[in-house]
Amino acid sequence: MSTLKISDLRVSIETDQGTKHILKGVDLTIEEGEIHAVMGPNGSGKSTLAYTIAGHPRYKVEGGSITLDGEDVLAMSVDARARAGLFLAMQYPVEIPGVTVSNFLRTAKTAIDGEAPAIRGWGATVKDSMKKLRMDSSFASRNVNEGFSGGEKKRHEILQLELLKPKFAVLDETDSGLDVDALKIVSEGVNRAHETTGLGILLITHYTRILRYIHPDFVHVFVDGRVAEEGGPELAERLENEGYDRYLVEQV
Ligand code: ADP
Ligand code: MG
Ligand code: MG
Repeated sequence: MSTLKISDLRVSIETDQGTKHILKGVDLTIEEGEIHAVMGPNGSGKSTLAYTIAGHPRYKVEGGSITLDGEDVLAMSVDARARAGLFLAMQYPVEIPGVTVSNFLRTAKTAIDGEAPAIRGWGATVKDSMKKLRMDSSFASRNVNEGFSGGEKKRHEILQLELLKPKFAVLDETDSGLDVDALKIVSEGVNRAHETTGLGILLITHYTRILRYIHPDFVHVFVDGRVAEEGGPELAERLENEGYDRYLVEQV
């Protein structure tokens, strides 16, 4: 049983106006096979949490810890985090000139597993996963992120999720920019990975829309860099009806 544990996490960034403290003591524990939704108003620090787990150099950890099965994630390089079983969608957000999706996936799989997947079986596995995500097979020969639409980027993320089989995935605003059909396909992919591999998911979202398709076991509401409230799926329903006003009023 794997556990991703975030304890009293404090994170800041340097801006032109000086040091900005964004996360002010976040506690969150995810067990293998659990789906946690992190919700909250814009600017509450949700993406900062995702970037910090991903090891983005801009985000400075001032205190607290992130561990995966007791191992210090913050001490790991970005590649080591992926090898340890964390899926970080923003790890490769940029175009990679001359590297096709197919080669990229194979290289990533090799890096994570420590050995190359068998060529023949791998090709079929990739094709099969792409088909489930209703992706055209020509996608495999395109260069990574080159001219990808928002929807293609998201599908590429879920394709990686299905093929790389991480223990935990951090998905930040996976629903943004998707129409309902694409949202359904992407959500189905996330649910498949959850059901078949016991993937633990940290699903970060401002809106409740995606939670109609991906059902969280736990909901955490971020306000001003802290978890302001936690609960089960009923909390997401409440947010759908009431929005975040209640928290913002309390903050003043
Ligand atoms: P959320 O994802 O919940 O909308 P973010 O983590 O993106 O929130 O941002 C939290 C706060 O930190 C915001 O006030 C935002 O403006 C600020 N912030 C985050 N990243 C940066 C950055 N790279 N440069 C300047 N400010 C940032
Ligand atoms: Mg479940
Ligand atoms: Mg964000």
